[in-house]
Amino acid sequence: MKSINPYNQEVVFEHKEFTVKQVEEAIDKSQNAFTEWRKTSFEERAKLFLALADVLEKNKAKYAEVMTLEIGKPISQGIAEIEKCAWVCRYYAENAEKQLSANKVSTDAQESYVRYDPLGVLLAVMPWNFPFWQVFRFAVPSLSAGNTGLLKHASNVMESAKMIEQSFIEAGFPKNVFQSLIIKSDKVEKIIRNPIVKAVSLTGSNAAGAAVAKVASEEIKPSLLELGGNNALVVFEDCDLEATLNTCVHARFQNTGQSCISGKRLFVHKNIADEFTEKITQKIVALKSGDPLDEETYIGTMVSKEAAETLNEQLQDAIEKGAEVVIGGNYNQAYFEPTLVKNVTPDMKIYKEETFGPLLACSTFENEDEVLEMVNSSDYGLGVSLFTTNKKRVENLIPLFEDGAVFVNDLVKSDPRLPFGGTKISGYGRELSEEGIKAFVNKKTVYIK
Ligand code: NDP
Repeated sequence: MKSINPYNQEVVFEHKEFTVKQVEEAIDKSQNAFTEWRKTSFEERAKLFLALADVLEKNKAKYAEVMTLEIGKPISQGIAEIEKCAWVCRYYAENAEKQLSANKVSTDAQESYVRYDPLGVLLAVMPWNFPFWQVFRFAVPSLSAGNTGLLKHASNVMESAKMIEQSFIEAGFPKNVFQSLIIKSDKVEKIIRNPIVKAVSLTGSNAAGAAVAKVASEEIKPSLLELGGNNALVVFEDCDLEATLNTCVHARFQNTGQSCISGKRLFVHKNIADEFTEKITQKIVALKSGDPLDEETYIGTMVSKEAAETLNEQLQDAIEKGAEVVIGGNYNQAYFEPTLVKNVTPDMKIYKEETFGPLLACSTFENEDEVLEMVNSSDYGLGVSLFTTNKKRVENLIPLFEDGAVFVNDLVKSDPRLPFGGTKISGYGRELSEEGIKAFVNKKTVYIK
């Protein structure tokens, strides 16, 4: 299995795929590790996660470089990603015990309560766009709850997968509590069907999510899906203009636009549309493209030239239907210029579909009802950002959005302290916070007469 550096098309890492036998052995080892790991105290687990946070921080330059080589992620954004992984380790080290403490309920029993016990071996199927963060977001709460984890990472980031496994070993975790499986996706079905594996979590495309959830449901196993998004950035005329411009640029262009929670559709009130478009164009022009290994680079390459071609097809569809490219629009191999498109209408692919790259699609609106309809018309439901200084408007609108998150005057982001997940075809289930640690536990009712 090869990792190809999208910046220069060179093969940077090669890994030999596991045989079916090796996969089966890894599953058995995970189960054996579980029988001991589940008995460890929260205190012991917390110590290990604090050690893991230190390992991540110590090695952040090395890990970030691997991500840059595998997917073209700007190195400074890779370092920030590793720091966030350390944060989630420390968050659950501090909070897991409290979040999973038994809940007493008064009934006619002498004693009754709900306790939260681990399920066992969990499978995580993860994407390449945040090679470390997506995995840690799953692994830290799941393992803190006493489960063990098997990772099937995206085929193009297997060096990251190996580094993640090593980071657990370096931190002193017992062997096989966390393992990376070097496999392609055709081996996933059999793993889910293995009776040892108790649940599956997938972050990725809708096609992959549907395939995995189908098998899990046939096996009557829980699944959690974090899929694509088509988040809206809604800019009202009473917004704080300068702050809103900066946030919208960051919301769309960080990670070179390859994030499920990017603000992809920009809806600007018609009274400020011209001024906003002109000013955001200046900010987009100022974004520094270049070698992703250069710390000054903000826009790296996309993950592959095929990904850039897909984005270009979506853009050409919009141009044919009357959209106007304000800035950008060209691509070369895996590099796609940061692009702003205006006069975007609902019949265009860049409005209806997820665009997974540095392209911002701008439309205008006249009033709250209209923009509410535009936001909710999406098949996706990951998150929406509102930019306004009108508190009353915020209060009225928040309950009416169908998304899994509403952020006001900020971009939609994941935070260990808050639940993260979508509605509609963006998936189901919640990661992070107390919700996330309870995603894969047996909520056991205890009744003692
Ligand atoms: P894919 O769905 O292609 O890949 C994600 C993972 O699923 C990979 O490990 C992949 O393995 C595996 N996979 C693919 N097909 C199957 C299958 N039929 N059965 C089992 N496993 C499968 O997505 P991308 O890697 O291209 O990631 C981009 C997509 O993920 C975007 O749509 C994006 O929005 C979404 N995403 C969602 C996030 C969220 O939190 N909601 C976060 C990040 C991304 P392999 O690489 O071997 O094919």
